[in-house]
Amino acid sequence: MLRVSVKSSFTKIPRRFASTKSSKVIGIDLGTTNSAVAYIRDVKDKKSATIIENDQGQRTTPSIVSYSVNPTSNKIEKVLVGSLAKRQQMINPENTFFATKRLIGRSFDDDEVQRDMKTVPFKVMKQSPTSDAVSLKISNGELKSPKDIGAAILSYLKTTADEYLNEEIDKAVITVPAYFNDSQRQATKEAGKLAGLNVLRVVNEPTAAALSFGLDDKMKEGERKNGLLAVYDLGGGTFDISILDIEDGVFEVRSTNGDTHLGGEDFDNVVVRHLLNNFISQNNKNKKLSLQILLENRALMQRLRDAAEKVKIQLSHVKSAIVDIPFLYDNLHLHLEMEEEELDKMTLHLINKTIPPVKKALRDADIETEDIDEIIMVGGMTRMPKIRKTVEDLFNKKPNTSVNPDETVAIGAAIQGGIISGEIKDVLLLDVTPLTLGIETIGGAFSPLIPRNTTVPVKKTEIFSTGVDNQTGVEIKVYQGERGLVRNNKLIGNFQLAGIPPMPKGMPQIAVTFDIDADGIINVSASEKSSGKEKSITVVANQGLTEQEINKLVEEANENRDSDNTIRKRLELITKADIMISDTETAFEKYKDTISTDPQYGEVLNELKALRVMIDTFKKEENNTKLDVNVIKRSTDALQNKAFKLFQRVTTASQKK
Ligand code: AMP
Repeated sequence: MLRVSVKSSFTKIPRRFASTKSSKVIGIDLGTTNSAVAYIRDVKDKKSATIIENDQGQRTTPSIVSYSVNPTSNKIEKVLVGSLAKRQQMINPENTFFATKRLIGRSFDDDEVQRDMKTVPFKVMKQSPTSDAVSLKISNGELKSPKDIGAAILSYLKTTADEYLNEEIDKAVITVPAYFNDSQRQATKEAGKLAGLNVLRVVNEPTAAALSFGLDDKMKEGERKNGLLAVYDLGGGTFDISILDIEDGVFEVRSTNGDTHLGGEDFDNVVVRHLLNNFISQNNKNKKLSLQILLENRALMQRLRDAAEKVKIQLSHVKSAIVDIPFLYDNLHLHLEMEEEELDKMTLHLINKTIPPVKKALRDADIETEDIDEIIMVGGMTRMPKIRKTVEDLFNKKPNTSVNPDETVAIGAAIQGGIISGEIKDVLLLDVTPLTLGIETIGGAFSPLIPRNTTVPVKKTEIFSTGVDNQTGVEIKVYQGERGLVRNNKLIGNFQLAGIPPMPKGMPQIAVTFDIDADGIINVSASEKSSGKEKSITVVANQGLTEQEINKLVEEANENRDSDNTIRKRLELITKADIMISDTETAFEKYKDTISTDPQYGEVLNELKALRVMIDTFKKEENNTKLDVNVIKRSTDALQNKAFKLFQRVTTASQKK
């Protein structure tokens, strides 16, 4: 039996492996409900990704960790992972942690954490009054983080691989939902580190599934699969849809979408409610049962949840099934028959919630449902016939069920590991940027450099210049978002490029380069051509944004496109006029003595002052569309003209003298 020892297991290296660190990179699917580990092996001169069975002989491991507290010493005496932990769940509900992937990398105040903590039998709390981190409280008072739970699962999977391969494995590729934000990805990586793994790459789950679908057969049969692929992934806690284009070993993610809070557990919860309601109505003749009291009984809820999941899974294979829970409460039993049709009906709203993200992903990839060549189904929930039928109706095509929905993600992660270690060649995995990236330019406008859903890695350079004469520095502000004005987008980084030689405005050539690597890490650099001055920063895209937030941003951008454009044009005009008039003011001040001799000097100066007042008013009320910005443009052009003529007259007069 594999046990994760309390203190040292995460980093401890078993002595017999110490001298043989493996070059192998294992692939791990760290799932909400189940996890799996795979590696690349040679099968008759070909490479094949293979699942490693755990010490219980299972190909997947429940993502559950249970702590046993000794009642006398009040110390943790045992940590169990996987199905052994799951078996403890009933007798030790408050110390058995499951579905903690929903909490990893989130702050306590996060809506999803607040929602989740109400439905789980263990205690979720704030780490401390001053920290926003999520903590899980064990009954002896000790706190664990969702990252610690992830680390315990990863440690178990690492040991599974170590023992099976008889080598010490210290490198891994771990998968995450496509819409995990930076802090969730970072927390997953840190969990890997705690488990003694160097996490070489964090890969999106649907991308891994596509890799497994597109490559595993190729490796075995020597054939290649090309075409447009939709990966429909409904697991225990999240739903993801990705559209990929596979062309001769190049995997390009065209778009991704999903729902970070939709999965098998939501289906289980619906069934739990159904069972509870039936239990109450079956027994209310003899006893008044309070729903609230039942809901607060953690052991009872755990038994119900187990029964609900069991009947849900059974109904994927048979038309009707019996739920039998003896002595559920006091001496009362639950006995109930459920039909597949009944389950379909009560969970239809959840199944239908997957349709809009699919449509959005297709729209973003700029394709129609009929363009999709294959639909692959990932995640245990896709075994439910009603879900398969819904997907078939949506695409007007039968989904491909040749891949094993529980194993394909880990297989894909192992393939990605093989690509990194060099075991698998000629494959390039391409991901996409979730939102447009660009910089702020004149008047607070957003100048995009990398449009959303651009395939990464990508590198792009554009030339910008200064807006004011003799400007010796520029601030490069990097934004992410879909709106035309930076103030509606998210600032993800900024830096100053100083030391530009004084030149008239528009003369310096400042090359701004965005370089995004395969992990989505963005390097932004700016260099001024004549001086060679250069500066750069590294930022992470998609920081702190959930998939829902991304969808909202895109929708808002679409809704506001016209008004954003109007405001953007106004601001550009106002800023340009402001710069022009400032130049004229400077020239008037500098050559005051000479130009004041011209008879029209006083008139032009007054107009200049009036225009300054007007521009300042517009600047203060930049959104007030009642102020006609064209007036500024006309007045600025007229004044420029008059000032130019005045300078010409004065110059001609002085030459005549
Ligand atoms: P995953 O996160 O991919 O391991 O998916 C786990 C989810 O799939 C859990 O909610 C399971 O209850 C559910 N599941 C597994 N097998 C089936 C099945 N045959 N029918 C319906 N749901 C299933």
